[in-house]
Amino acid sequence: MGTPIRAVIWNEFIHEQEHEAIRKIYPKGIHQVIAEALEKTGNFSVSTATLDQPEHGLSKELLENTQVLYWWGHIAHDKVQNEIVERVKQRVLEGMGLVVLHSGHYSKIFRSLMGTTCSLKWREAAEKERIWVIEPSHPIAQDLPVNEGGYFEIPHEEMYGERFEIPVPDELVFVSWFQGGEVFRSGCCWNRGAGRIFYFRPGHESYPTYYNTAVQKILVNAGYWAAERVKIQDRCPNSPALEPLPEPPAEFGQAGIVQNLEDIQ
Ligand code: ZN
Repeated sequence: MGTPIRAVIWNEFIHEQEHEAIRKIYPKGIHQVIAEALEKTGNFSVSTATLDQPEHGLSKELLENTQVLYWWGHIAHDKVQNEIVERVKQRVLEGMGLVVLHSGHYSKIFRSLMGTTCSLKWREAAEKERIWVIEPSHPIAQDLPVNEGGYFEIPHEEMYGERFEIPVPDELVFVSWFQGGEVFRSGCCWNRGAGRIFYFRPGHESYPTYYNTAVQKILVNAGYWAAERVKIQDRCPNSPALEPLPEPPAEFGQAGIVQNLEDIQ
């Protein structure tokens, strides 16, 4: 590939610091494992950001130069400042890609961009997740280590079950089945403004999911797919006609400057 894609991995980074069992799996944090997965392709220039940093590590300048932002959050969604959420949202609408991971389904940024509650069913029972690749031609599904049946498995994961309260995805790439019987739309794509959003379900902090080869490949592909291609800044201009127009009839005023309603009735 040409110029590396500028990616930022955002993580609230609390479980890994507060719980010994989770620190054992992700000693430097979930964000570092994802960053390394992207870096080893040679196609990304990666930095990380966490909740405890000033502006949660998401300054205007950094976001201006970010092509794709990955988001992992869980217990501190409410600690993310609304101003930063709005800043990220504007960048997505301008064209920045957003990859929302696992419990990020309940993040302020994801719910704001979806416009729905993004609620779901869940159960933490370390059960098997079978991930079906239902759109094998999709860019995010390329070169995955799937078996002949067209799926791969994660031996231990948290269960997320339908109904997932999201708007109908523009593209649905993966569907999960769980040992306990539920199903879930686990790889969903949306377009919002000029930006692309991908939600990927696996990634509970208690399991080593982000070391899984298939999961890493999906995160890499999601970065390729979602990375900003054009930046379209928000403007809503008054636009002069390209071709000559006749004089408008006198009885039609302009919104906001009609002086006397009775004159046009
Ligand atoms: Zn979880």
